Amino acid sequence: MEQKKIIGTDFDGIITDTDPVFREYIKRVTGKQFYREQITKYFYEECLPITKDDVDKAYQLMLEENVWSRMELVKGAKETLLALAEDFDIVIITARPADARSQSEEFLQKHGIPFKEIHFIREGNNKINLIKEFPFKIEAFIEDRLDFARGIALSGIKTYMLDYPWNRCSGETDNLYRVNSWKEIKESLSGTFS
Ligand SMILES: [Mg+2]
Repeated sequence: MEQKKIIGTDFDGIITDTDPVFREYIKRVTGKQFYREQITKYFYEECLPITKDDVDKAYQLMLEENVWSRMELVKGAKETLLALAEDFDIVIITARPADARSQSEEFLQKHGIPFKEIHFIREGNNKINLIKEFPFKIEAFIEDRLDFARGIALSGIKTYMLDYPWNRCSGETDNLYRVNSWKEIKESLSGTFS
């Protein structure tokens, strides 16, 4: 049987709409309410008047309350991944804390999200470093963190970046495509690989 081609995807911001949950927990920790448009950097403590300690506390609370297993899906994510899984194997690469693995797998199973593998990168590591270690080739990747997306795109992998306030930038990167929805990703991928 012919091996399926592989598509890689991020988890937070791509499969799950994690930002509202994260802001809710930041509010629990700090008492301050923030809005999506204020999240102009990937690291919340770099764009909000909060500390890294607040962020770590929010993460800890999220783990304790099993929140990684019950987030909202990004619109179109499930339908598109199901359609893509007919022709591709799906590999998820996430920078979530490794402690969230079982909750994350529970989420994927509960929602019937197809995936062949899920990888958690070590804190401080870069996704492209991990991708380069894989014994297989990734045809395309979907990501919302700007520096990860740029690194993957510059390695020659077609990369789609869902547009968010935290990844806006000036200038263009070869192979990096800013998109507004999973619908656009699906249309482009079916044009590329059909
Ligand atoms: Mg993400």
